[in-house]
Amino acid sequence: MEGFKNKTVVITGAGSGMGRETALQFAKEGANVVALDLNEKPAEETVAMITSAGGFAKAVVCDVSNRQQVIDTIDQIAEEFGTIDVMFNNAGVPMAPTKTDEVTEELTNLLIDVNLKGVFFGIQAVMPYMQRQSSGVIINTASINGARPRAFNSMYSASKAAVITLTKSLALELAEYGVRVVGVNPVAAETTMLQGFIGDADYDSGKEKYASSVPLGRLAKAEDIANTVLFLASDKASMITGSLIDVDGGRGI
Ligand code: ADP
Repeated sequence: MEGFKNKTVVITGAGSGMGRETALQFAKEGANVVALDLNEKPAEETVAMITSAGGFAKAVVCDVSNRQQVIDTIDQIAEEFGTIDVMFNNAGVPMAPTKTDEVTEELTNLLIDVNLKGVFFGIQAVMPYMQRQSSGVIINTASINGARPRAFNSMYSASKAAVITLTKSLALELAEYGVRVVGVNPVAAETTMLQGFIGDADYDSGKEKYASSVPLGRLAKAEDIANTVLFLASDKASMITGSLIDVDGGRGI
């Protein structure tokens, strides 16, 4: 299957978890993958995994919370690859369960800077290219916590709720150009981010507690999210825009 042959797919947060798994799946489907991450080593590891499986990928270091860096990075990618067909705004940071009066200004800024502004800057950077092409799909990683918040998770839930609204507003703004803007609302996935959500509590019991809040009885796997992202990016989803798919085992019902 080479459903994304010759398509340029940019993935933020591609050095780990859902971003990495999505990068591997897109590459398997023939895409030219740009694996963007704050950290070089994990991004290069993703690229090495793709290359050794016979795919094409390139690692790019970029801090999604830095608007100018994101714009310059996307400009360079567009120049090198000609088009940007899919932009997966996926980089994110977690929040351990915290009483709201104990949430620091530093954490507040990080959550908004990466989870919200990072997605927004990614959209701002790619949209001129997609508008010119009259094609493209932008996919944003929100969270089921953005649609159905948890206690002790206020700013994380709020940062992701904003991504949901951003996705819908941009879908309306870009529809006339034939550009689709969609998203996923994952429940906590078994990635390095899970430790961030569990915080100081025991990992195994924290994980179990999370899983028991999911009607299907388990956490998400990175591939659950990747499968959904590939569907949303494909022509099979050509009538879908402004929608976010809950990949949450029923947690948001
Ligand atoms: P997930 O469950 O969302 O896959 P991970 O923690 O496994 O969570 O992956 C998140 C990825 O996002 C990491 O590779 C991390 O380096 C990346 N990331 C975090 N902050 C930024 C940022 N400011 N710019 C780019 N990438 C970032």
